[in-house]
Amino acid sequence: MTNRNLSLRIEPSAGTRDFLAGDHPLLIGGEWTPGAGRSIVVENPAREEPIARLRAASAGQLDDAVAAARLALSGEWGRASGDARGLILHRFADLLDARAERIAEVMTLDNGSPLTSSRMLVRHLGAALFRYYAGWATKIAGEGFAPSIGARPLDDFMVTTLREPIGVVGAIVPWNAPPGMIAMKMAPALAAGCTMVLKTAELAPLVGELFAQAWIDAGGPAGVFNLIHGHGEDIGAAMAAHPGIDKIAFTGSTEVGRKIVIAATGNLKRVALELGGKSPFVIFPDADLDTAIAAAAMACFLSTGQQCMAGSRLFVHADVHDRVAEGVAARAAGLKIGDGMAPDTVLGPVISARHKARIAQYIAIAKAEGAHPLLETPEIAGPGHFIGPTVFTGVTPGMRIEQEEMFGPVLAVLKFTGEEELLSAVNGTPYGLSGSVWTRDVQTALRVAKGIDSGQVGVNVHAAMSPETPFGGNHQSGWGRELGREGLDGYLKTKAISVALGRRG
Ligand code: NAD
Repeated sequence: MTNRNLSLRIEPSAGTRDFLAGDHPLLIGGEWTPGAGRSIVVENPAREEPIARLRAASAGQLDDAVAAARLALSGEWGRASGDARGLILHRFADLLDARAERIAEVMTLDNGSPLTSSRMLVRHLGAALFRYYAGWATKIAGEGFAPSIGARPLDDFMVTTLREPIGVVGAIVPWNAPPGMIAMKMAPALAAGCTMVLKTAELAPLVGELFAQAWIDAGGPAGVFNLIHGHGEDIGAAMAAHPGIDKIAFTGSTEVGRKIVIAATGNLKRVALELGGKSPFVIFPDADLDTAIAAAAMACFLSTGQQCMAGSRLFVHADVHDRVAEGVAARAAGLKIGDGMAPDTVLGPVISARHKARIAQYIAIAKAEGAHPLLETPEIAGPGHFIGPTVFTGVTPGMRIEQEEMFGPVLAVLKFTGEEELLSAVNGTPYGLSGSVWTRDVQTALRVAKGIDSGQVGVNVHAAMSPETPFGGNHQSGWGRELGREGLDGYLKTKAISVALGRRG
């Protein structure tokens, strides 16, 4: 079976072209400032053409951004009520809505994502997320109680707790879904009253600028949200080690997550990590197979496999294995590959030539390990870093394509019979981010969902997200949770004030 339906390309809107051709400065302390660090040429991965040129922050500009964020903590923002913060976040959300199409177009040109996917991301994790956290800004509260043991009689003593912002947050994001990755950090951090320095990903830095512009236009105070660009190995590493930053909120690879933890030990800053995954998609024989097959193909191949929650391991019960494997391969073979700007594109390019070569290497490893390629896509000539879907059957637990995150359009299909054997394989990787179970039997669904060791599991749905649903990983998929109330808690610290009330007369 092969797949080669290259779709047509279309041009971006005039407004987006103007944006790309303009300057792309940093935002530090409310001022647009030209970067003084390394040059970054932003490439459209679908065409291998430069679309924008910018300069990273220098080390001194990182210091300036952190200083601006510290200053803002003690200024107008630090004194602002929850109501005032919420109001700004609501205005910001309205601007994101009004600019959603521009943001989606820029994301597509920046990282190759199909425009339909970019739009969906902006709708689900853009304005809606800011409105959700704007609501929380007025509901941050501690508690009051009489302690059970005190130095004096209990009625003479009380404790009240305050929930305070953690301080300056350094946000470091990846290239694969910039609007969502930025919003998931920015919205709760600012609702909590923190200030932020955001470092964009060097491979897709442009969406961050649209967020920074919206912050200014929403009337956000200077220094509360600062934008810098930079490479991971210098500016990212300097943020992780920076003594003026109180928390790093990181999304990216497990390998870099480890480096951040080590770099953060200097001032023992808090670290939240959203890392890689190798998520299972489990199909039982009684599932609605047509729905499950279609969903399994999208769970793995959406964003050309470049999503942290990708269902890259498909576990199928032996009774329906062949039907499902062939069905998924047939769906995958029909997915339109092409420039993300074309309306019918389902699979865009991968982010870079280097990443494409890495995925190709994994495909070779899988073959060498004895996996059977049920679907292969012939090499797609450039321009554009295109690589079509591959489906491997005959995969067994422990093979490298079953264990390691590829971040590409490669599906490993595994056969199972018993639940014990299934869960041991499902939980047998270093990761624990997501997963889903597909069956009509409620007991099987809940038993297996409970048995999957990951931060979130879907039943007859894969990778469902909403502003209120906690999101994050276990084991080497991360530390902490974003979204929901837990996402807000990650930006707050508790102060307990104990009060001696004196003795009753
Ligand atoms: P990456 O780890 O290479 O880079 C992520 C960010 O870290 C970039 O901004 C980069 O500049 C920065 N960085 C690199 N080295 C650094 C260092 N030494 N110190 C500080 N910062 C550094 O990841 P990527 O290739 O951009 O993204 C793909 C990875 O992200 C995949 O592993 C994917 O699973 C993961 N991801 C996870 C989630 C999640 O929510 N769990 C979401 C999206 C992507």
